[in-house]
Amino acid sequence: MVDSGYSHVDPLPEPGTEYDVGVRCVLIDPHLKNGDGSKAAVTMPRSFEMLERVGVGTAIADVGRPAGLARLGSNGGWLGKITGFTSARLSQYVPTAVGQNIVEAHLCARYLELGGKILRAARVTGVSEDDTAADESGRCTVAVERYVYVRPPAQAPPLPPALAALTSTSLSARFAVGADGKQSMVRESLGLGYEGHEYAQSFFLADVELEEGVAEATGWERGLHA
Ligand SMILES: Cc1cc2nc3c(=O)[nH]c(=O)nc-3n(C[C@H](O)[C@H](O)[C@H](O)COP(=O)(O)OP(=O)(O)OC[C@H]3O[C@@H](n4cnc5c(N)ncnc54)[C@H](O)[C@@H]3O)c2cc1C
Repeated sequence: MVDSGYSHVDPLPEPGTEYDVGVRCVLIDPHLKNGDGSKAAVTMPRSFEMLERVGVGTAIADVGRPAGLARLGSNGGWLGKITGFTSARLSQYVPTAVGQNIVEAHLCARYLELGGKILRAARVTGVSEDDTAADESGRCTVAVERYVYVRPPAQAPPLPPALAALTSTSLSARFAVGADGKQSMVRESLGLGYEGHEYAQSFFLADVELEEGVAEATGWERGLHA
């Protein structure tokens, strides 16, 4: 079977759709599937404690690697070392290196197990509160459009006709939870404002996979150029 890249994606529902999936929860995600890369290096004990509240913290910690120290490098030299990550046992968990792809896979499986629905290849374009006298239930309307995010330089495959037929819709919800990152559309729609600032510096981000032996030989106790 040929996977066009959209095998996890459903058509957008008709406007006004209400989902009834047990917990009555729908997650809107521009990605086509769970992440297969990682942008996180270390997951902290408190994060594991929160993850365990939904039943996945220990399972994720078990496949990670405890992180006892970190070394920071810049301009070809080491700036310094951070040690003692695991010395103060305030939690049953320790700082652990585990890929974000693994965290996402566990969370996704648990969410689906609990009856959650994911609308993939879609994004929120606005949230408005229905606080008119006619609707005292305090529901809100979430505007959604078909939108595909794939991490550059990868490009999204063309949309199959079934997924392109309806390119925008709206959902009616009792609550809208904005978990849409630093440029949150939910926050902007509700006029909540944002206190923060841009960094003046530029950052270079890279995912690097090393064989165990290479990491030991070059990365840890040797110089950056070893
Ligand atoms: C390079 C890097 C390394 C990091 N390393 C670590 C680490 O080692 N340990 C650690 O604890 N933290 C780390 N962080 C920080 C951590 O990744 C963030 O604090 C965390 O991801 C923030 O979570 P979030 O859910 O608020 O936002 P995000 O993780 O940014 O998630 C927001 C999601 O919302 C989606 N979205 C955006 N707009 C819309 C929309 N309109 N509609 C629907 N969906 C939308 C996005 O596609 C995204 O999936 C790192 C961050 C970076 C950039």
